[in-house]
Amino acid sequence: MATTQTETVKQLTYLAGSLKAPRILEAAGRLAEQARAAGWSFEDYLAAVLEREVSARNASGARLRIRAAGFPAVKTIEDFDWDQQSAVRQQVASLASGAFLLEARNVVLLGPPGTGKTHLATALGVIAAHQGQRVLFATATEWVTRLSDAHRQGRLPQELARLRRYGLIIVDEVGYLPFEQDSANLFFQLVSSRYEHASLVLTSNLPFSGWGTVFGDQVVAAAMIDRIVHHAEVITLKGASYRLRGRGIDSLPSTRTDITDPAD
Ligand code: ADP
Ligand code: MG
Repeated sequence: MATTQTETVKQLTYLAGSLKAPRILEAAGRLAEQARAAGWSFEDYLAAVLEREVSARNASGARLRIRAAGFPAVKTIEDFDWDQQSAVRQQVASLASGAFLLEARNVVLLGPPGTGKTHLATALGVIAAHQGQRVLFATATEWVTRLSDAHRQGRLPQELARLRRYGLIIVDEVGYLPFEQDSANLFFQLVSSRYEHASLVLTSNLPFSGWGTVFGDQVVAAAMIDRIVHHAEVITLKGASYRLRGRGIDSLPSTRTDITDPAD
């Protein structure tokens, strides 16, 4: 066994050398351990090894990761106008170093529609991509669909393991649609699987007190919020919608931000 491994390493050294791809050699061993521990498929392992080489080789690796992230539109911190949101400027600036990703800390952006939650979540994703982290963006509803599909096909554990390889997962619009009980449980598993391991950025138009209604269960919601907030930066955006600026409309009919906890 040991001899075979040594032979394989020799062969890899030769192959990586002829491809002029030294990172393949370095990544192959390191990622093999990770792959065995997390039960990646052969394809996932190969993709991960090649990705290391490609992103190291390609100065535009960040651009590839930004494209792969699935942002609805690419937005940056530099594009953000702080006039209406000066209260959170410092807080957001402290996240811009990306240190939260290395500590597997979460970020929760709360606030009414149009206050820049998706913008800032995307901007944090762009920072992560520049730091070499893989990022995936989707709405809460899309995440639940993805997890339900995996669950139905009996590969939920593999899907969660695969997602742990992303340094950042963004869950936009928690609370726009309430979850079914099964969906809430799947979402809980996503949160648990990343807890103290890799970062989540979540956005919601509801305060935490309204999440019980979204997840259809106060106990599940409380357990989830507990894990999310344990190591998290909670940023509360305020004010009128940026989309409606200068249109003579001061506020939307119902922003649902002042919803009260039914258990209160
Ligand atoms: P939310 O997700 O809170 O509903 P978005 O982030 O989608 O709001 O913002 C709505 C639109 O307004 C987007 O095009 C976004 O880029 C822009 N926007 C919101 N707030 C700001 C801001 N402070 N500076 C620049 N653009 C903003
Ligand atoms: Mg949004």
